[in-house]
Amino acid sequence: MRKPYFAGNWKMHKTIGEARELAQTLVTELDGNTNKLMIAPPFTALSAVSEVVSGTNIKLGAQNMAPEESGAHTGEISVLMLRDIGVSVVILGHSERRHVYGESDELINRKVKLALEHSLEVILCVGETLEERDAGRVNDVVAGQLKSGLNGVDERHLVSVTIAYEPVWAIGTGRTATPEDADAVQAMIRERMANAYSDSAAEALCIQYGGSVKPENVVGLMERPNIDGALVGGASLMSESFVPIARAGA
Ligand code: PEP
Repeated sequence: MRKPYFAGNWKMHKTIGEARELAQTLVTELDGNTNKLMIAPPFTALSAVSEVVSGTNIKLGAQNMAPEESGAHTGEISVLMLRDIGVSVVILGHSERRHVYGESDELINRKVKLALEHSLEVILCVGETLEERDAGRVNDVVAGQLKSGLNGVDERHLVSVTIAYEPVWAIGTGRTATPEDADAVQAMIRERMANAYSDSAAEALCIQYGGSVKPENVVGLMERPNIDGALVGGASLMSESFVPIARAGA
């Protein structure tokens, strides 16, 4: 039985004060919740939020990290710095990183391996654009991102990997994939993982859905057998919307 996993990606929102306040509200309102929970504030608020969530049932996540441990990489944040601040999860391969900032599968794979080597959990995002969906290429694109992203990752590390299926056309647009459509892609992901690794690893793998998840649609999504949780953007910015999502399936 896979534990429901809800993660909030705050993207480039919230000052330190706002982030601390939201984190504190979530800690209070989600106290005792048995789902797996994570929030990923912007880098500037990680330290403040780390103090708030430390010792609670909410994990601290980062939204990205560098593919190197240290060195001359102006503007980058290292895995060592994230560990130092109390981060235990990192989101990698988000569609905004892929499509706005040009991150390649090869770069994302380097980050995935580095994060796992340093005992960070990874949420690896995969998903097709609308053009790719319309061209009937969903499975090819998603399976390709999955294969490249996990290239060289050993099965023993899979316990620290979550896959987030996030169709690009559903992110921040208000358009959600139907539960049936999302489940079909997520079943394909699980099948590919069984072929690449083992049935037991695929069965244990947590696969989140992401793309305009809200309190109104989360229950229908969670009813599907291959949807184990959600990676939430916009609706994670307010406790009024994130708390009911985070309670789904509990
Ligand atoms: C995301 O950024 O991962 C996301 C799913 O955003 P939203 O929920 O706003 O669509």
